[in-house]
Amino acid sequence: MLTNFKEMLWDAYKGHYAVGSFNAYSYDTFKGIIEANRKAGNRPTIAAFGAKYLSNMSLDDAFAMVESIGKSAPDMQICLHLDHCKDFDIICQAIRAGFGSVMYDGSALPFEENLKNTARVCEIAHACGVSVEAELGSLAAGQYSHEGEATDEEIYTDPEKAAEFIASTGVDALAVSVGTVHGLYKGTPKVRVDILQKINEAAKIPLVLHGGSGIPEDIISSCIKNGITKINVNTEISVFAGNKLKERLMAADKIPHLSVLALDQQKDVEEVVSKYISFFGATD
Ligand SMILES: [Zn+2]
Repeated sequence: MLTNFKEMLWDAYKGHYAVGSFNAYSYDTFKGIIEANRKAGNRPTIAAFGAKYLSNMSLDDAFAMVESIGKSAPDMQICLHLDHCKDFDIICQAIRAGFGSVMYDGSALPFEENLKNTARVCEIAHACGVSVEAELGSLAAGQYSHEGEATDEEIYTDPEKAAEFIASTGVDALAVSVGTVHGLYKGTPKVRVDILQKINEAAKIPLVLHGGSGIPEDIISSCIKNGITKINVNTEISVFAGNKLKERLMAADKIPHLSVLALDQQKDVEEVVSKYISFFGATD
């Protein structure tokens, strides 16, 4: 069942758990994510389709696919979310296509411009019943990052600016920068839970952690205690499934049929997504 993003995140905020937001860009990635959540007891879940995957699939196709797969799991809450988008036209197209939420990413812009643009997106999206995530601060790029730019630098989110931004825009969820990176970590993740705590006290709305790939369970738990209700995982899904594919092809006497490889890929996505779901807390 397709579900409202804002309600899903507020339930998580009040219940002290996080909703997994997993990137999908093909039938097999969507199916693997939904199966993992179904087997975990119909956890609420976000299927995130990044604007950069438009060459893989159109917005209308992504919506039709999630809606159809969702019918096979009527007891599960699924939200189709547009991930990282700077393009106003694509955001409007996603709203029209039926997406439940959109992320406007103005994090590289000056504060006032990010605020102005986010407020504009909120006005339009909210009029259509669609929720909005925005970002303040900037994540650095790690290994194998498929989001942002390789030159992205870390700028921590300022708690006071976050409060001003939320009050002025009416945004439903805010992505923060507290030491996570897009991609895989080159060393041990250094997440500033102290900064997150201050942001949470000032923001008082659901917060989003990008760069979930490779974050240890204890750090995830601390983040959830301090307002994180949505955790994005992209790179690890791709790296895990890509390595498994390589192993299978190297070990095979003859190349398996593409349909067999596609089913294997679904299982690989399911496996890595299941690991993260188990980190994100109980829904009880
Ligand atoms: Zn991100």
